[in-house]
Amino acid sequence: MGKLFGTNGIRGIPGKDLLPETIGKVAFSVVKKLGKKVAIGRDGRNSSVMISSLLSSYLLGFGADVYNLGMLPTPAFQYYISRDGFDAGIMITASHNPPEFNGLKVMGRNGVEIPRQKEEEIEACIFSITNFDYASEVGQYFTVDNAVDRYIEGIISHVGKKKRGLRVVVDAGNGMQSLAAPKLLQKIGCEVKCINCNVDGNFPGRGPEPIPSKLNELSDEVRNGYDLGVAFDGDGDRSVFCDEKGRVLTGDISGALIARFLLETKGRNKIVTTIATSSIADWAVESTSSILIRTRVGSVDVTDRMVKEDAIAGFEENGGFFYKPHQPVRDGAMTLALMISAIEHYGKPLSSLIASMPSLYQQKGKLECANHIKYRIIDMVAKSTSEGIQDRTDGLKIIFPDNTWVLIRASGTEPLIRIFSESRNESRAVELYKKYTNLVQSLIERSTEK
Ligand code: MG
Repeated sequence: MGKLFGTNGIRGIPGKDLLPETIGKVAFSVVKKLGKKVAIGRDGRNSSVMISSLLSSYLLGFGADVYNLGMLPTPAFQYYISRDGFDAGIMITASHNPPEFNGLKVMGRNGVEIPRQKEEEIEACIFSITNFDYASEVGQYFTVDNAVDRYIEGIISHVGKKKRGLRVVVDAGNGMQSLAAPKLLQKIGCEVKCINCNVDGNFPGRGPEPIPSKLNELSDEVRNGYDLGVAFDGDGDRSVFCDEKGRVLTGDISGALIARFLLETKGRNKIVTTIATSSIADWAVESTSSILIRTRVGSVDVTDRMVKEDAIAGFEENGGFFYKPHQPVRDGAMTLALMISAIEHYGKPLSSLIASMPSLYQQKGKLECANHIKYRIIDMVAKSTSEGIQDRTDGLKIIFPDNTWVLIRASGTEPLIRIFSESRNESRAVELYKKYTNLVQSLIERSTEK
């Protein structure tokens, strides 16, 4: 039995490893395991209409009522289904992956991606299907056209209109926040300049992944007198910011800043983040003596823990930010509205807010490693060293007495081992990174020779 669900749903290339029968089997299993009132939504990829049509045909054939929310950001989809009594939702998107990819994210009635245990049940159901049983009566089909507007109104209900409308540059990367973020900004009283805000499945602008090396146009534009720049990933659940000087921030920095703002304005609470997030997360909670909880890497893990612990917010180093009073999932436009609120609250330019945070140096890299050996390699690293304290929440994190750390983790989706290091001292971060990269590399080579 293979593994269908990765860190964030099912991904593949239509026609190659994301086949029509897979779509049918997912539809069948969702109806069987989750229920018959199903919402579907899609991103702007070239294959998304095809998959959406297939999916709704299968769902109708299995007797489900289908509510098609059309093209929209993933968080807008989640917001809608959590408020309208659906049994399940299936969002068609490959998020930040290259244009040829697509995927399915399955949500439960709360609008949250289904927990891992439910994923396993659905996966087992998918692998056990031998033939489809069509229902004696087909379901009904509805189209919904106000999901994005409801999402925008939902965000505004948390942040209100702004006293001092900031000047903001939005780079939607030809993705789904093209449909929501500019409209939201106008409604809360900001001045907006748009880059790559036309939806295009080929992602001709800077591609669907908002990595700093692709955000030069955003940085350049922000320097023309804007207060803030924001770039979203393809399906609009993650946001990457740049300050008024055009400097792109990591998700750790922006997440910690927003988290601290929320705690300082709303009071002591809990924040959830992953094992891979910078120690800047400790800074976020310290001024309010709040509690920081760390989980495995993956947005589903952050959401689950946030809900269990009743934490106000969560964040990831990749630019995912979760604000539970809105919805306990990562949400690019909600995060943007919170960042604007934070800048307004502190009354200082973003660059000076960042300058007041402690400086931490990071090194990040990855090594190719076959899926069947990657977890074993990490166990071998753990056995071969007695340095620091070992945390095995996800992969291996070695934490040293001076709060320097190194994380060695197998990718949930690709044949890779990722290596992160962090220290207040730059050369120490580099030295640790090199040391463990060499160790992992030699272990991979030795295991491959056998
Ligand atoms: Mg995404």
